[in-house]
Amino acid sequence: MDRNLADIASALNLPDFKPGWVWLVGAGPGDPGLITLLGLSAIRQADFIVYDALIEESLLALARPGVGLIFAGKRAGVRTCRQEDISALLADLAREGHRVLRLKGGDPFVFGRGGEEAQELARSAIPFRVVPGITAGIGGLAYAGIPLTHRDTNASVTFLTGHSGATSAEGGLPQHDWQAVAKASPTLVFYMARKQAGPIAQALMAAGRAADEPVAILGNATRADQQTIITDLAGLADAAARSPEIAIIVVGKNVLLRAELDWLARAAPALNPS
Ligand code: SAH
Repeated sequence: MDRNLADIASALNLPDFKPGWVWLVGAGPGDPGLITLLGLSAIRQADFIVYDALIEESLLALARPGVGLIFAGKRAGVRTCRQEDISALLADLAREGHRVLRLKGGDPFVFGRGGEEAQELARSAIPFRVVPGITAGIGGLAYAGIPLTHRDTNASVTFLTGHSGATSAEGGLPQHDWQAVAKASPTLVFYMARKQAGPIAQALMAAGRAADEPVAILGNATRADQQTIITDLAGLADAAARSPEIAIIVVGKNVLLRAELDWLARAAPALNPS
């Protein structure tokens, strides 16, 4: 690279990260190269970074010396911070005049409670900016060689959560109208669905989706240890048990396009020279 980030930020007229502001930034699904330029520029300027589990260490390592790094995710499945505490912390740090970066996996406004955090900031009259990121349910498919839409398979997509409760420890099938979901789009993309994969498959089949409909389970998508399992609705429960814990489940015929488009498997030796 022949220009530094400050030059690029100025050429692109990127906004300054002003003291007293909170930036809610999506880090992308895993591969650190998928963060946006605005996200990177925020990491370089932040006084405090409040980050979730699943944020790559290599991104945090780009922060400036003396930055305050605060972990606000889950360790071993246990949430170390309550949501109210995170929102209060962001507001307190901003009121003290710091540049506060809230770094979240994927996109901050997709299934990650970023909306709730932004509401708290709005109610507290703290100025904030939202920087979108590549969500796992889009970037993960690209890295698995599965087009999210394709004229031959699906002209629409539905994104859903696969867990029901306020916490992921709460079990049970999510409260979707499964008849409506089954008819909604040819392709369904589930977040947080691995633990409920069996009941979800049952609900979809009971609502009319075929038992042999193709399914992909994208574990640790876009990371070095990405693992993709191809199965069908009837086999989903068993296959999910073999998948990494962090996974996206894709139901639909577009999954079959991977047979032709798994570019990562072909490119991996060139992309990751050893
Ligand atoms: N805001 C995030 C989603 C947070 S919910 C985003 O936009 O991607 C957390 C869920 O996201 C996980 O349970 C999993 O279903 C999905 N997820 C996040 N990162 C993932 C990854 N690298 N691979 C597969 N699924 C991922």
